[in-house]
Order: sequence, then structure tokens, then C-alpha cells
Amino acid sequence: MTKIALQFLGAARHVTGTKHLLEIGDTRVLLDCGLVQGPRHIADAQNRKLPIAGRDVDALVLSHAHIDHCGALPRLVKDGYDGTIWCTDATKDMLRMMLMDSAHIQSQDARQLRKRGHDFEPLYNSDDVERTLRLVRSVPYYQPFDVTPQLRVEFLDAGHILGAAIVVMDVDVGTKKRRIVFTGDHGRKNLPILRDPDRIPECDALITESTYGDRIHEQAVDMMAELARIIAEELHDGGRVVVPAFAVGRTQSVVLFLGQLMRDGHLPKLPIYVDSPMSREATRIMGKHPELFDAETQALLKSGHNPLFFDGVTYVADVEESKALNEVRTGVIISASGMCESGRVLHHLSQTVGRREDCVLMVGYQAHGTLGRRLLDGATSVNIYGEPHPVHCKVRSMQGFSAHADWRELMAATRHLAGRCKQVFVVHGEDDPAEAYAGRLRNAGFASVAVPSKFDRIEIA
Ligand SMILES: [Zn+2]
Repeated sequence: MTKIALQFLGAARHVTGTKHLLEIGDTRVLLDCGLVQGPRHIADAQNRKLPIAGRDVDALVLSHAHIDHCGALPRLVKDGYDGTIWCTDATKDMLRMMLMDSAHIQSQDARQLRKRGHDFEPLYNSDDVERTLRLVRSVPYYQPFDVTPQLRVEFLDAGHILGAAIVVMDVDVGTKKRRIVFTGDHGRKNLPILRDPDRIPECDALITESTYGDRIHEQAVDMMAELARIIAEELHDGGRVVVPAFAVGRTQSVVLFLGQLMRDGHLPKLPIYVDSPMSREATRIMGKHPELFDAETQALLKSGHNPLFFDGVTYVADVEESKALNEVRTGVIISASGMCESGRVLHHLSQTVGRREDCVLMVGYQAHGTLGRRLLDGATSVNIYGEPHPVHCKVRSMQGFSAHADWRELMAATRHLAGRCKQVFVVHGEDDPAEAYAGRLRNAGFASVAVPSKFDRIEIA
């Protein structure tokens, strides 16, 4: 009898490097192929030697365009993958930008490291990205399609970033029919701009993320007040606020919130610099897909307000302009990457961490071992570009911006499946949140809940 199994090749008891392998008999379908992020000496080795060879994968289904879900695709292609990469239309639009940026960051890092005498070969270059993009086939939400003769897939809206999908997989091997659902990254209700996540359908097996399986996020109204308070404090201290944020999602949310606070008179007009060449591009792509916006954003646009482009926001394009931001002493600089591991934000941090009047505001998840996490944990000195920098600035954190559901939201999204869904696999969370969420699922009546480790292979009953 044809066996159906899942093997967890990444983001198992971790949050980055998502790769889950669905085996249907001899056919192997990879769900996502993300980059492992974190300290270079650990991440690089894992990204260089992928846990599965490209030629051993028959098809690939991509949940969304965040780099920890798609960033290793060009490496897989370099390594022999030549099948189709399935994703939503908006994810396809995002993918070029994300992967090209990743290739670009790697070549810059390689140059920096070589300057200091380290030999570093990028994981892939822009040619590998082009080859990868030629394999992509996009499908709209809610339109089932055949990935293999035994696997039909449908994308539902995950409400996480533009184009993000909950992946519904119907496996039919004749003697056995099973529905497996992969949450991808599960979004939240009432996030700015995006629609709310779709309801997770009835299924036999569920692969669910658990990034915030042990946390509760702030609500949007409290976030507004908190953001206004932090910015006002900086204005009072005469300093600036540096916000490390990935170009897609969080950056737009922060800009939208600041715009609203200024429009409503809760903050004086102050300059906002979005220093990431990708952010304008991401914003342009969002503009191409108004059909994916929530009702509020559609209404705002209709009334002539653009929530992302308004007086006072500057999207910084070139490097010279970016360096000129050294002179900016008050205002907000939003720059990538979100975990402070690479990109222009490193430069801004090198100028900021030593100044008491300045503030670093974390609005996203900071994985163990990243510079962002060290700052958040109160390090008194950090290395940036290999140089030690004493930390005197304030470091604040607002997790309410998160595009990931907290545990209460995750439970609300899955509870209706208790007693029906026979197997649950909790992934995309570090040990504590993953175990905490698994415990809650068991308490809610789910019979079989596993927190797989990397390389665990489990048969679908
Ligand atoms: Zn994501």
C-alpha cells in the first residue's frame, strides 16, 4: 500500500529554515525551502548543505515569500531541483524581490568578509535566482490544482503577509484519502492592510506553526498608544528611533501606524525614513494587489489617503542617501534586516547603539544568537561588522506588530478541529513555545500532538 509520510527537515523546534517533506509513496513534495537564519557559523553550514538533494524532490509548494520560507530555493535549484515551484500570484510577485535581495546581501557580505581576510562564497547569485524564478507557477487563492496525480492543493489566505497561504493538501492514493493542512505562518485578525486569516478546514493531519505558542500579543489599540509613547519619549530626549524590520509586512505596518498617529494629532509631524531599497518595491507590489486588502484599507485608499506614501515618509534608495542618515538626529529610521543580522540596519545600529538619547525599537521576532536578540537581552557591548560597540541606547520591544498569531489566536484558529484532526505536528517554534502550544492542543482534546525534531519522519495514519 502506498505510504504517506511527513519528514521535518527544517524549522523543527526552531523558527527558521522551514522545509517539510511530504512523501506519497516514492513521490516527494517539499513544503517551503527556507533559509536558516542566525549566527553565520551555524546558519551557513546548514544553508550550504541542504538536508535533501535537489534531484530527490519532485515538486515544491511554497507558503509565502518570507526568506525563512523561500530563501534556500535557489540553493536547491543550484543543487539540481528542476521541478515546479507552486505559490500564489502575490507570492510570485514578491519572490523575485526577496530572492534577488538575498543574493545581493550575500554578495555584499562576501565582499565585506573578504576585505577582512575571510573566504566566503555566497550560497547563490542572481543567475541562480533567475533559474529559480523560471520554475515558478502561480495559482490564485481558492483554486485547487494538481501538483502530482495523487496530490491536489488549494491555497487559502493565511493573513500573514501579502500572498501568504494556508496550504490544503488532498492526498488520494486510491486506497486512502487524507487531507493534510499546513498553516504556513499563521497571521492574525485585524492586522493592518491584510485580510484576516481564513478558517482552517477540516483535515486528518495539521502542520501548525508555533512561533508565539507561549505568548500573548498586545492589541492594536494598545500598540498605537505604546508606539506614540516611545516616539514621544525620544522626541523629548532629542534622539532618534531605529526600527529594524524586514521590508515586507512589518515595515508597512509601522509606517501605517505612524501615519495614523500623525493624522490623528497624537504625534507631531516627524520625518520617517524607510531605508531599504526593497521596501518601496514591496509597497509597489502591494499596490498591485488591492484585491487582497482588508475593507478598511480599501476604504482609506478610496478616500484618497495612501497609508504608505504620505508627506514625511522618505523611501531611501541609494547607499549615499542611506549614509547621509547619519546626520539625522531625530525621527524614525526603519531598516532591514529585522533580526539585525545583515543589511543597512547594521550601519544605523553602529551609529546608534552608543548614544544614550537614541532608541532601538524591536518590532519583530529576534531568534536566539542574533544581534537583535543580544540587544534585546541587554548586552552591554555588541559586535557590529566585527567591531565591538558599547551599548548605551535604549532598547524597546513591541511584539504586537507581529504578523504571527499568539497562542490564544492559534487556539482560536485550531480548536474546532479537536477530536477530528487525528495528527498534529507543531513546528516553527523554539522548544518552549512549541511544547507550550502542543500542551494546550492536548488539553483541548487533540489526541496525537507531536513536536518533531529535525529529520523526524512520521507516517500519516
Ligand atoms: Zn512568514
